[in-house]
Amino acid sequence: MTVLAVKDLHAGYGKSEVLHGVSLSIARGEIVALIGANGAGKTTLLKTISGLVRPTQGSIELEGTNIARRAAHKIVHMGVSQVAEGRAILNRMTVLENLRMGAFVRGDPEIDRDIQEKFERFPALGERRDRLAITLSGGEQQMLAIARALMAKPRLLLLDEPSLGLAPMVVTQIFRTLRDLKTEGKTIFLVEQNARQALRIADKGYVLERGKIVMEDTGDSLLDDPEVQRTYLGKHAA
Ligand code: ATP
Repeated sequence: MTVLAVKDLHAGYGKSEVLHGVSLSIARGEIVALIGANGAGKTTLLKTISGLVRPTQGSIELEGTNIARRAAHKIVHMGVSQVAEGRAILNRMTVLENLRMGAFVRGDPEIDRDIQEKFERFPALGERRDRLAITLSGGEQQMLAIARALMAKPRLLLLDEPSLGLAPMVVTQIFRTLRDLKTEGKTIFLVEQNARQALRIADKGYVLERGKIVMEDTGDSLLDDPEVQRTYLGKHAA
């Protein structure tokens, strides 16, 4: 079952087009990684999927419904949650308040139980539930951003560079969390500079160069690809 199908997507800012006909698909329960150099258009692609940037051409289907050109808040309601680059949390709210805000699209009575479940998954957040988000460490803030996005029970979770600027141990924790989420059946589109770790957990990966997809394969095959190794994994050609 395809959760997301992007076809021939063109988007950019004013007259400057950044995405030049991007196509990709994500099946339910998959982690799909998008790698690419700075400025390739990765964030722009995520923002276009979540409705923050308007496409000029192409379609974005969420479980068969075209969401391209819909308003961002409608797309959230339809089941797409994005964790933006740089820890998307409300600094002046407590951990608990952030999680409640994450559930604003829901009307069901199980929100408290879900918050409890988040505290079990991220014990550091449970211990700090009444602290302002701004007082948390970088890693805890990123965990909170992910937990907050999950509170919306998204059909598709978009993550923009979740490991950026974090210490190696915390990065490992973040990737472990993503692997656990996949085991639970979540569908994840992951943009990462940390190509090696992203491709290791990904079912499938895409390489974006100057607004175009130039490679598509399983995570393992991309890890073994000499061109990917040279350009994105810091390995020298054999
Ligand atoms: P990075 O890893 O540095 O975040 P990226 O692959 O996510 O890179 P984007 O942030 O999507 O790349 O940027 C793609 C291009 O679009 C860049 O040339 C950038 O300068 C331009 N761009 C990004 N945001 C805007 C904006 N708000 N207005 C105009 N141009 C923008």
